[in-house]
Amino acid sequence: MTAWDQIQTSIRSEMSGESYRNWLEPVRLSHVDGEGTMHLLAPNADVRRWLESEFSPTILATARALGLGVRSVDFKTEAPEPALEQQAFDFKAPRQAFNARYTFERFVVGSCNELSHAAAQAVAAQPAAAYNPLYMYSSVGLGKTHLLHAIGNRLQDMRPALRVVYSPAEEFMNEMIKSIRDNTMPSFHERYRRADVLLVDDVQVLSAKERTQAEFFHTFNALHNNGKQIVLCSDSHPDSIHGLVDRLKSRFRGGLMTDIQPPDLETKMAILDRKADEVGVALPSLVRGHIAARLTSNVRDLEGLLNRLIARAQFIKSPITLGMVQSMFGTADPQPKSGPDIPGIQQAVALEYGFGVEELRARNNTAPLVRARQVAMYLCKHLTQASLAKIGKAFRKHHTTVLHAAQKIEQEIEQDNDLKATVKSIRDKLQFSGYSHSSYG
Ligand code: ADP
Ligand code: MG
Repeated sequence: MTAWDQIQTSIRSEMSGESYRNWLEPVRLSHVDGEGTMHLLAPNADVRRWLESEFSPTILATARALGLGVRSVDFKTEAPEPALEQQAFDFKAPRQAFNARYTFERFVVGSCNELSHAAAQAVAAQPAAAYNPLYMYSSVGLGKTHLLHAIGNRLQDMRPALRVVYSPAEEFMNEMIKSIRDNTMPSFHERYRRADVLLVDDVQVLSAKERTQAEFFHTFNALHNNGKQIVLCSDSHPDSIHGLVDRLKSRFRGGLMTDIQPPDLETKMAILDRKADEVGVALPSLVRGHIAARLTSNVRDLEGLLNRLIARAQFIKSPITLGMVQSMFGTADPQPKSGPDIPGIQQAVALEYGFGVEELRARNNTAPLVRARQVAMYLCKHLTQASLAKIGKAFRKHHTTVLHAAQKIEQEIEQDNDLKATVKSIRDKLQFSGYSHSSYG
């Protein structure tokens, strides 16, 4: 096994299969020279630039962690580049498939989401007329993706001639990488820049992805300058997305920004009613009130619970009763709301910084990741009862690392207002949405 094989194997477990195949698999080892420089060969110049800007720190850190004696990494392009091939895919693309359940008709409106709902409807009624871009943000499970699809569904019905492109930011990134690798950037540009309406979900994923951000910036401008509608969703305000370049932040802020708050009690009850109605199940109002009062501010969890309840009722061939709900909660009385737990904190921090939870637990030591990890450790130490050893274990780190991290954040937070705001925002979210994996057992 060469040094490069070892590095590949190690990094592989820490990234998605698709990213791995796109970026790292095609790279070959040339040699490691006497100075400790590892010379790697990328299949073409674009992949090489991509690796240099996005991956060299990870590769180096991994080499260090494996004790391979590698001091630096150098990338070269393997072979002369093949001639540009233009025609790669057929862009008379099939109509975009939007989730048929995610429509405006099925969206329950309450004070928590009425502004976003109204803005989304306005955009669907007349793209690029009023709010451009429309930027909607909230913590998870509060209906952002639902509203994006609702716009898509409505436009497909009412304005079938318009070219509506829906793309989670992750997909945008992966398509871009694939196009770089296959030398099909022209068709990638074509696909996005010919859109009349571009719907991009989870833009926080662009965090710290420089090349993707640059590409997205150009796409954004090309569309916006041509009077095309752009709608963006994210888990946070643009200013709280770390590693998002300023020029994108200011573009994102340039239209209308709306947030979605967790639903209040009435809205939760209305949602439960609506969902029960949709599947034709009778939900006694006592049961409904009990679930709404007891559970969570996250609509996805609310739906999940209702679905389990319905499944259970069908299984035992009984109508839904209060007793059934109580036994599902495990106890008749609402528990005092417990604080967040370690996985909940990891999830919230990962979201805030735009990483995956697994990355927080990985061996990758690039600066933004280290910072996110320190913040997560700090919050675990302050918000849970867990011992340092237990926290360390959850991050695959030694307990002294946890202590050091917590102390560092404690000191820096006094001087660094950005950090302070970030930590506060995470704490608020933890409170709001009860990011607790044990919230209902
Ligand atoms: P997000 O993208 O904000 O994480 P989703 O749009 O995926 O959230 O919503 C999670 C689930 O909750 C979906 O099944 C969605 O249909 C449902 N949902 C969220 N908000 C509402 C709402 N106001 N009315 C009806 N269903 C909702
Ligand atoms: Mg979503």
